[in-house]
Order: sequence, then structure tokens, then C-alpha cells
Amino acid sequence: MIGLRKNLFVISISLFWIALIAGSFFWNYTSARIEQERIAFQTAKSFFDLIVITREWNARHGGVYVPVTPQTRPNPYLETHLRDIQVNDQLTLTQINPAFMTRQISEIAEKQGISFHLTSLDPIRPQNKPTSMEKKALKAFEKGVDQTGKFIEENGKTAFFYMAPLKTKTACLKCHAEQGYQKGDIRGGIRVTRPFRFSIPLTALLMGHIGLGLAGLIGIFIAGRRLSSAYDTIRRQATFDVLTGVPNRRSFSERILAEFNRSLRDREPLSLILCDIDHFKAYNDYYGHEQGDQCLAKIAQQIRNTLKRPTDFCARYGGEEFVVLLPATAAAGATRLAEEVRTNIENLEIPHEAAPVSGVVTVSLGVATFQGDGSCSRDELFKKADTSLYQAKDQGRNRVVSLSK
Ligand code: GH3
Ligand code: MG
Ligand code: MG
Repeated sequence: MIGLRKNLFVISISLFWIALIAGSFFWNYTSARIEQERIAFQTAKSFFDLIVITREWNARHGGVYVPVTPQTRPNPYLETHLRDIQVNDQLTLTQINPAFMTRQISEIAEKQGISFHLTSLDPIRPQNKPTSMEKKALKAFEKGVDQTGKFIEENGKTAFFYMAPLKTKTACLKCHAEQGYQKGDIRGGIRVTRPFRFSIPLTALLMGHIGLGLAGLIGIFIAGRRLSSAYDTIRRQATFDVLTGVPNRRSFSERILAEFNRSLRDREPLSLILCDIDHFKAYNDYYGHEQGDQCLAKIAQQIRNTLKRPTDFCARYGGEEFVVLLPATAAAGATRLAEEVRTNIENLEIPHEAAPVSGVVTVSLGVATFQGDGSCSRDELFKKADTSLYQAKDQGRNRVVSLSK
């Protein structure tokens, strides 16, 4: 149960970490994409602004004259009295207005992959009719939108579509006033389309986040293991006696509570043995406290080794006193086991020069049995074992007394 809780904790932290990394990746990727979009927008807008400036320059001059060539034919849509000027036999000049100029520039730009389109909802030249996307933008401009831009797929490639309105300026009125336009009116728009390659370092971003994610998970795993082992140590220290390695008094208190209730429920006997080292004060005085500690550990191990069933339980009750709990064991069996414990400890032959009689370390044991019939309480059972032990001491030590019968 506790192991499961520890694992759940590590799993929760790991999931949180993964979510954090995924969030960071998403945030970085989105930020990079927004930045790319901003760059695409700004670049397209710069082209637009340049075209508008060039057109204004042209308009301020009232149109400019260029030689008539096979590529530059006089503009049939230009109604002006001085459209063409015959300079001599070889040279005829024709007037280029801003619209014609825009078209010619767009033809040059097209070769470099940049496409311009001068368009209007009411075009003078039929070719300037808007496409459906341009029409949508032009209608939006009429409603007050001042520019628009978005990524589009064109011939399987990503391009940025930008469009802004063409506003009537003073210079434009020379030609466009007769169409009813006034300064500030929207006459149409120019669409700029540029191919765009996203340069988001997706692989580096992905690898960086995967690396960071894995490093974090390894860290969480290692920290989890250390925490778990520290927890186990603390738990062990809380339930086991450090000196002897057997469970401590607290564990005994929990165990007797459970076993007593079980005994009552199942109507099965429960035996208790109290075991106290004889003349241990004298041992300590004679051999020193450190050797006394070693003796305590040996005796604890010997008691534990004597126990037969996995349900038999031994703990250090305090000082040089041990307690043995024998579930489903009647008085006779418990007395037999207590006698075995006594003999086994005597047989360890731990020298005890200060002991008045035996010369080796011995123990006295008091046995009590609860019949599982509710005839006594837990405390009374313990008291009975204590009285047995007292009698064993009183009768000369190194013996077993049972008050179970
Ligand atoms: P008895 O036969 O009546 O039990 O005599 P005893 O000397 O064993 O009993 P007493 O209660 O007078 O003394 C118990 C001694 O156990 C006193 C104490 O120094 C020793 N003792 C208790 N705990 C420890 C321990 O952790 N280490 C060591 N070395 N000695 C301990
Ligand atoms: Mg004692
Ligand atoms: Mg003692």
C-alpha cells in the first residue's frame, strides 16, 4: 500500500514534468511561429509600402515617359492628350501612369517569385478584376480593415498573402477626380504574395525538449529511489530495535492488539511469553555496557531462531526484556517453546562470571495464555505473564513459569 503510494507520487511528478516539457515545447513552437508570421507580414508590407511610394512619385510627376518598345506598348486605358510623344524616327515616348508602372514592376518582381496585383472592385482595366480572396479583402477594407495577411498554400508551397488598400492622395486626384474619388477614398488595393519558408528549428527544439524531459525523468527516478530508501530506513527505525534487530515495543503493541482481536474472533488460544535476562545489571557491571549490548543482540537472535511458525512474533519490550507472541498456541505448546528458548540461551554459554550460580547468561520466562473466550482482557493477559515471570525470578531464575492452566 505504502509502496503503491510512493510509486503513485513518482508517477504524478513524472506526469507533471512531462506536461511541463510538452507545454514548454508548445509555447516555444507557437512563439517561433508567431515570430515567423510577424516577419512574413512585415516583409510583405515593406514591398507594399515601396510600391505605394513609387506610385506616388509617378503620380506627382503626372506620369512618366518611357520609350515605346515591343514590351512597352502605349497604354490603351490612359486617356490623356499627351500620351505619346514622337521624338524622332527612332524614338517614341509613351506616358506610364502609376497603374501601368505597377503592372510592369509586378512583371519584373514575378520573376523573383514576388507577385503584386493592383486590383479594385470597380477596375478600369478588366485584368485588374479581383480574385475571390482579393475581393473579400477589398470588401473588408471598405468596412474599415486597414490591412490583411495570412499564409496560403500555392502550387504546393507556402506563401504569404498580404493586401492593403490604395487610398486616394492629392497627386492621384489629377487623374482620378473625374471618377468621383476624393482624397482618402479607397480606390482598390494591392495584393502582395511572397513565397515563405518557415525556418523554425523544429528538430533542435524537439531534441532539446526530449533531452531535457528525459534528464528530468531520470532525476525524478533517482530522487524517487533515494526518497523511497530513506523512507524505508525511517520506517524500519520506527518499527525495529536498532541494537538487537528485532521489532520494538511499538510494533509489539500493534501486533498484540491485532492478534488478541483475531484470537477472540476465531476462538483460538493466544500465548504470551515474557523473557528477562538474569542478573544483567551484574553482567553490565562486570563486562561493561558495550559487551552487555552484544549479549542483548545475541539473546534476541537466539529467541528469534527458536520460534517455529511464521506467525510467531518476538520483540524487545525494553531494557533486557523480550516478549514473544504465539498466535493459535495453547498453554502446553507455549510452555514447551519457552523451555526451548531457555535451554537454547543457556546453551549459548555466554560467560557470566558475576552470576551467582550458573556461570553463563540465563533467562527467566513467564508464560500466559488467553483461551480466546473473552475470559480476560489484553492487559490481564500481559499481567499474568508478568506475574509468571516474577515467580520464575522468585523461584531462583533460569526457569519457566506458566500461569495458563
Ligand atoms: P534480574 O535477574 O532480577 O532481572 O536482575 P537484573 O540485573 O537483570 O535486573 P535489573 O532490572 O536490576 O537490571 C537490568 C539491567 O539491564 C540494568 C541495565 O543496565 C541493563 N540494561 C537495560 N537496557 C540495556 C541496554 O540497552 N544495554 C545494556 N548493555 N544494558 C542494558
Ligand atoms: Mg528486567
Ligand atoms: Mg533482568
